[in-house]
Amino acid sequence: MAPLTSLEEFLKEPKIAYFTMEIGLLNDMHTYSGGLGVLAGDTVRSAADLKVPLLAVTLVSKKGYFDQQLDPEGSQKEKPAAWQPELFMQPMSEKVYVNLRGRDVAVRSWLYIQRSVTGGKVPILFLDTDLSENDPEDRELTSYLYGGDERYRLMQEAVLGIGGVRMLRKLGFEIRKYHMNEGHASFLTLELLLEYKKDIEAVWDEDLVWDVPRVKDLCVFTTHTPEKAGHDVFPYDLFREVLGEIIPIRILRKWAGPEKLNMTHLALNLTEYVNGVAKKHKEVSMRMFPGYEFSSITNGVHSYTWTSEHMKAVFDKYLPGWANEPELFVRVGRVPEEELWGAHMASKRALIDYVNRVTGAGLGYDLLTIGFARRATAYKRADLIFRDMQRLARIGQGKLQIIMAGKAHPRDFDGKALIKRVFSCIKQLAGRVNIVYLSNYDMDLALKLVSGVDIWMNTPRRPREASGTSGMKAAHNGVPNFSILDGWWIEGHIEGYTGWAIGPAVADENEPLDLRDAKDAEDLYRKLEEIIIPLYFNDRHMWVRMMQNAIGKNAYYFNTHRMMLRYVTEAYIK
Ligand SMILES: *Cc1c(COP(=O)(O)O)cnc(C)c1O
Repeated sequence: MAPLTSLEEFLKEPKIAYFTMEIGLLNDMHTYSGGLGVLAGDTVRSAADLKVPLLAVTLVSKKGYFDQQLDPEGSQKEKPAAWQPELFMQPMSEKVYVNLRGRDVAVRSWLYIQRSVTGGKVPILFLDTDLSENDPEDRELTSYLYGGDERYRLMQEAVLGIGGVRMLRKLGFEIRKYHMNEGHASFLTLELLLEYKKDIEAVWDEDLVWDVPRVKDLCVFTTHTPEKAGHDVFPYDLFREVLGEIIPIRILRKWAGPEKLNMTHLALNLTEYVNGVAKKHKEVSMRMFPGYEFSSITNGVHSYTWTSEHMKAVFDKYLPGWANEPELFVRVGRVPEEELWGAHMASKRALIDYVNRVTGAGLGYDLLTIGFARRATAYKRADLIFRDMQRLARIGQGKLQIIMAGKAHPRDFDGKALIKRVFSCIKQLAGRVNIVYLSNYDMDLALKLVSGVDIWMNTPRRPREASGTSGMKAAHNGVPNFSILDGWWIEGHIEGYTGWAIGPAVADENEPLDLRDAKDAEDLYRKLEEIIIPLYFNDRHMWVRMMQNAIGKNAYYFNTHRMMLRYVTEAYIK
């Protein structure tokens, strides 16, 4: 049981309330599925380090996302990933109610405190409907992260947005901004509209009772993906069935879309400050949602969390203070080459030993090791490197090994098929290029991978990667990126300096997909064969220079400390 904390110290000054469906705080708290949740965790960690007056609101997701099991053919089975909140945080006695389908659903919260060595603290409230007074069905509403059907999702989002604001009021917080981390949280705008509703006698017009300017001024919205599936859309009939007319549907249609309730549109229309998560993503978002103004704040990662123990020791020695001031990476050139390489090799040996232990794959310490781990979904193209297997075998034999990982969403059948296809390619290459696919990609495995491989590869289909953050983690460990120019890499890439691009600088979006895939694969093979493999084996000095640049140019900038300060100055304080 975590030590009891009083909320009192947090009630003294107004807070930024950061609402998020998922958050990756600790590996064993299964309240995250992937990049969005890890980013939320890194945001909170940086806020605590920097003493930004922020709190977070999320769902307790007691049964987690899922545990991935892969059979020898690569078929994915999902097992529940239950965890015990009481081991990490304390239950709060305060309750609020949200009326869903005509029943008052009781919501309580758990309090977790993110503490920093700087003395900063960020409270995180985990909303929970698993209370004996609730109907058995309602008790499950905060069980499964991204589980269930459309109705389940809508009810979860009502608990998060509406229940979350009510809980903040109940606990006595004063809030200066509400930050919606993705559209999942945008029902919070409805609760604010209800709260600041004007008196009809004063305005004499039914539509003007809704104080939209006031709500807009209070809200900040970050959109995270150009993928349609990432933007929740609900039929108005379903909304009415679940939430009734808490706001007249006729009015709601003006903000959330005429035909269906689009959570992104709702957020866009009721928020003053909206941003994408990389410069390119801002442009893509403006094309997707014409008529709205977007800013961009490029994502980062929490430097201390995403640096391996071995690399931390070297940074502590030569760049003391780096963890709370990642700008110090600008002086990474002061780290002696042998020590940087030594720290990398120590991380690499730890990874290889781990992989050999769990898989018996027999990987070696001296081969160029490529890492690739991300959600298994079609547009991320985990299979691009297997497009020409003969060529990969010829280029890589005796020189290359690859470590892969990634879960497919339980209902992403293309994603599941992709894993099976990759497994079949791995088998066909056996004896020539050693490739392993690890199950159950999570934060612990991510740190091992990004720090222990020699290069980090990303091959999304443009322009579908909003930002991507695992490559930033790799850079923190001196691991150069080898990736498609999309998301953050457009900003972080300097060819042959911080890493390498795959494919042309600008993709012709009118070209057939297969042709684009072919061109990207061609460039991937060519650079591996002609540039990367020779450099790795023949010029250690230049290779370590690239490692330094990954740290000095990429980690220096792509961290959540810089990101947090940007949110503070551009979005939170206005
Ligand atoms: C960092 C991280 C991600 C996000 O990485 P991308 O590059 O955006 O795919 C996903 N899952 C886990 C477990 C992570 O640690």
